[in-house]
Amino acid sequence: MTVLDSFALDGRRVLVTGGNRGLGRAFAVALAEAGADVAIAARDEALNARAVDEIAARGRRALAVQADITVRADVTRMVAEVTESFGGIDVLVNNAGIAIHRPALEVPDEEWQQVLDLNLTALWNTSTAVARGMIDAGGGVIVNVGSMSAQIVNRPQWQASYNASKAAVHHLTRSLAAEWAPHNIRVNAIAPGYVKTEMAPVDRPEFRQNWILDAPLQRYATPEEIAPSVVYLASPASSFMTGSVLLIDGGYSVY
Ligand code: NDP
Repeated sequence: MTVLDSFALDGRRVLVTGGNRGLGRAFAVALAEAGADVAIAARDEALNARAVDEIAARGRRALAVQADITVRADVTRMVAEVTESFGGIDVLVNNAGIAIHRPALEVPDEEWQQVLDLNLTALWNTSTAVARGMIDAGGGVIVNVGSMSAQIVNRPQWQASYNASKAAVHHLTRSLAAEWAPHNIRVNAIAPGYVKTEMAPVDRPEFRQNWILDAPLQRYATPEEIAPSVVYLASPASSFMTGSVLLIDGGYSVY
C-alpha cells in the first residue's frame, strides 16, 4: 500500500448535505473521484439531478434526496433513504449552510433562527441520526464544514449570526469527537476562507480590499481547491485525526 492508497475511498458510502452546488457539489464529485458512492441532500430538485449525473459519471452509485434539513422529519427520512439505498453511511459531510449579512441590531428574530437552524441544529440532528447507524456498524467519519468566521470577524459586512453558528460548529466538532471516539467515529471540521460560490460574492468591488487584498495570497479559492481536504479527512489518510479543525484560508487569519 502506497501513501496515495490511504486517500482512497473505494466502497465507502458518503452523504453530503447541500451537495447540489457550491462547495458541497465539489466535495461530492471529489469524493466520487476518490472511489466513494455519494448521496447528496438539498432542496432544489433540478440541481440535485445535475449532481447525481456528475457523481454517476465518475462510475459510482449516486443518489439525491430532496430534503430541507431544517425540518426534523426530513432529516429522519434522508438518513433512512440513504441507509436503505446504500446499505449504510460510512462518511457524513455536514456542508449545508447559509450566511446573511446584516448589522446585529437589524437582525429579525426569524433570521437569527434561520441561520442557527441550518448551520447548527440541522448539523446536530443529522450527525446524531447518522452516528446511530455508524455505531451499530462499528465506526465512521464525520466532516463538518465550519469557517474561518468561527475565529475572525469578517468585514466590512456584519454577519454575527453566521460567525456564532460556525464557532458552535467548531466546538461541537471537538465535543462529538471526544464522545464518539470509543465508537470509532472520527469527527473533524474544515474552516475555509473566502470561496467563490453563490454564498460569497467574492467579485464585488466593495469587498475587494477586506476579502481579497487583506489575505496573504490575495485571492479567493475555488471549491475544487477545498475539496481535497475533505477527501483527506474522510479517508484513512487522516486516521489519527479527530477533533481537529483544518483552516484553509489562503493565510487570511495570520494577521
Ligand atoms: P451555497 O449557498 O453555494 O450552497 C449551499 C448549499 O446548501 C446548497 O446546496 C443548498 O441547496 C443547500 N441548502 C441550503 N439550505 C438548505 C436546507 N434548508 N436543507 C438542505 N440543504 C440546504 O454555499 P457554499 O457552497 O458557499 O457553502 C457551503 C458550506 O461552506 C456552508 O456551510 C458555508 O457556511 C461554508 N463556507 C463557505 C464559504 C464561502 O466562502 N463560500 C467559506 C467558509 C465556509 P438548496 O438551496 O437546493 O437546498
